[in-house]
Amino acid sequence: MNPAEAFRYLRPFLWRYRRGFFAGVACLVLKDTIAVCGPLVLGRGIDALKAGASGHTVAWFALLLLAVSATKGIFQYGMRVVLIGVSRDIEYDLRNDLFAHVIRLSPGYFAKQRTGDIMARATNDLNQVRMLLGPGIMYCLETGLTFILAVAIMLRLDWRLTAIAILPAPLVSLAMVYFGERIHTRFERIQAKFSDISSRVQENLAGVRIVRAFAQERAEIRKFEQLNLEYIAENLRLVRLQGLLQPLLELLIGLTFLAVLWAGGYQVMRGRLSLGGFVTFNTYMGMLVWPMIALGWVVNLIQRGTASLARIDEILRAQPEITAPAVPAQVPVVRGEIRLENVSVRYGAQEALDAVSLVIPAGQTVAIVGHTGSGKSTLVSLIPRLLDPSEGRVLIDGVDARQFDPAELRRHVAFVPQETFLFSSTLGGNIAFGVEAGSPQQVARAAEIAGLATDIEGFPAGFETVVGERGITLSGGQKQRTAIARAVMRDAPILILDDALSSVDTLTEDRILNGLTGVFRGRTVILISHRVSTVRNADEILVLEHGRIVERGSHPELVEAGGYYADLVTRQALEEELETAQ
Ligand code: ADP
Ligand code: MG
Repeated sequence: MNPAEAFRYLRPFLWRYRRGFFAGVACLVLKDTIAVCGPLVLGRGIDALKAGASGHTVAWFALLLLAVSATKGIFQYGMRVVLIGVSRDIEYDLRNDLFAHVIRLSPGYFAKQRTGDIMARATNDLNQVRMLLGPGIMYCLETGLTFILAVAIMLRLDWRLTAIAILPAPLVSLAMVYFGERIHTRFERIQAKFSDISSRVQENLAGVRIVRAFAQERAEIRKFEQLNLEYIAENLRLVRLQGLLQPLLELLIGLTFLAVLWAGGYQVMRGRLSLGGFVTFNTYMGMLVWPMIALGWVVNLIQRGTASLARIDEILRAQPEITAPAVPAQVPVVRGEIRLENVSVRYGAQEALDAVSLVIPAGQTVAIVGHTGSGKSTLVSLIPRLLDPSEGRVLIDGVDARQFDPAELRRHVAFVPQETFLFSSTLGGNIAFGVEAGSPQQVARAAEIAGLATDIEGFPAGFETVVGERGITLSGGQKQRTAIARAVMRDAPILILDDALSSVDTLTEDRILNGLTGVFRGRTVILISHRVSTVRNADEILVLEHGRIVERGSHPELVEAGGYYADLVTRQALEEELETAQ
């Protein structure tokens, strides 16, 4: 992304805050205009002094200079506060946009993108974009205007001297182009490294228990040090370049001053220029020093800002794979009939489901068993459209799931995923997640059904107990039951439990299943489990293998058939016998 593209990109944002922006620019113009009056007053003062003016007159000149500086200061203050304020406002908008966008992306995006990388872009890169919008634009305009005004007055004072003074300008432009491009690429590398570091930290913090359990602290620290070292090395590469730019500009400035002093001194001696005029001219030259120095800095800000904007744009350009159609189906999902027609799902080359056809009548309870990796989770992810089939159709109440707005569809599907996720809020808050009007009674009832009530009584703060990040203060079984309670809260016509009872013992499982019988009634339920005890009462049991349904029927029918399911029954009966024998 080049600066012009970046500007086009950010124009709508600037336009939104146009009032502040223009007010800030007005302050800027006034400030610069007043500032260029200073040297004129100074020059007149010196000439007056030389012509033998009274102390009274000189004092007036001094007072005038003071007034110029004071008003300049006031407008400078206004310019900074207003323009930097605008950049903060745009930063606020961009950050909100970014979050709102990221949260809507499909699960497939997060399977490819590292969390730490996204975080780095949302913080570090966003900061660079703000610097571009604030100081970047402000100093660009400020120094540009100063340059134009000062050079205009200098031309009127002495055009030959001015020609000498701006002689290095083409050289400066060349240097800017040369340095600009290199700063851009080096900065891109720095930000990419910073993303690596963020991802590394994020993964290590999330997996801190594993790191500790495998005694990998040292190894992880070493890997981190290596990354950090590379990050510093990239930064140093940039610093070396930047470090070169400043002295180069100062050298050019120094040489110019020398040339002007020589040529100007000559003019004064010949009487073609007054001493006051020469001082004025030199003061303007001095005013050009800051724009020249700032130029290097501004080029840097712009290059960094555009590189970062491109990185943020990469996120904003990612489209959710699962979207609502232009005209979403308006049929409310009330019955909960599920139909799969020749559904195949592929993850890249990996075939997870292979032409599965299936009807689950409304109100039935269907269980799915099968080896890990047989495609069970994939199959149920299709129903709330967490995933769309690669081929075939999924119909909910006779309507293709792709015709629903996913958000609308998901309101009618209560889903307990295989991996529970709890937010670092209260237990009650986690159970009522996503239900706007959840009364405490409803929360308590859901907890009761999920077999969590006695646990909660044991907690000091009851439903107000804070569960820690990802529910770290709870046991695996408690977490699973919280997730079940959350699904019960949803009160949806379709209920899916993906291996949701794997972390509870058989006794608790019995209790939960008993509690759930009332909930199952009148709903379409899909139960995934490895346990015969969980699935035996289902209306139909499906056995999945390599993405295909290989057995289907009721418990007695499948036992009779003597396949995978019958094996499972025998094996688990044996295990149970052994347990009771002990
Ligand atoms: P199950 O729930 O029966 O254990 P899954 O539906 O999770 O099985 O997985 C089915 C197959 O698809 C597995 O071979 C798994 O490796 C693969 N798979 C699952 N999710 C993904 C994914 N996001 N990307 C790539 N492959 C996946
Ligand atoms: Mg699974």
